[in-house]
Amino acid sequence: MPWCGPCQRYFAPPALNADGTCPACGEPVETGDVAEQAGETPEEDVRAPWHFWAVVVATVVYVAWRIVQLVAGGIG
Ligand SMILES: [Zn+2]
Repeated sequence: MPWCGPCQRYFAPPALNADGTCPACGEPVETGDVAEQAGETPEEDVRAPWHFWAVVVATVVYVAWRIVQLVAGGIG
């Protein structure tokens, strides 16, 4: 969102002048492109894919089965 310091207000990108300056005072506005881009990507990357959880569940089941076999074999 473009921010004009002298006017202390935000402007919609289409409302800016053609050269990207403030339509009210003519000063160059600060655009938040860096912050906006940084806020978009993490959500996609943090979420684990389904096959990751499939591997986790398979590993837990396998380890649990091995423990059962170990205990049963040790007693028997
Ligand atoms: Zn301004």
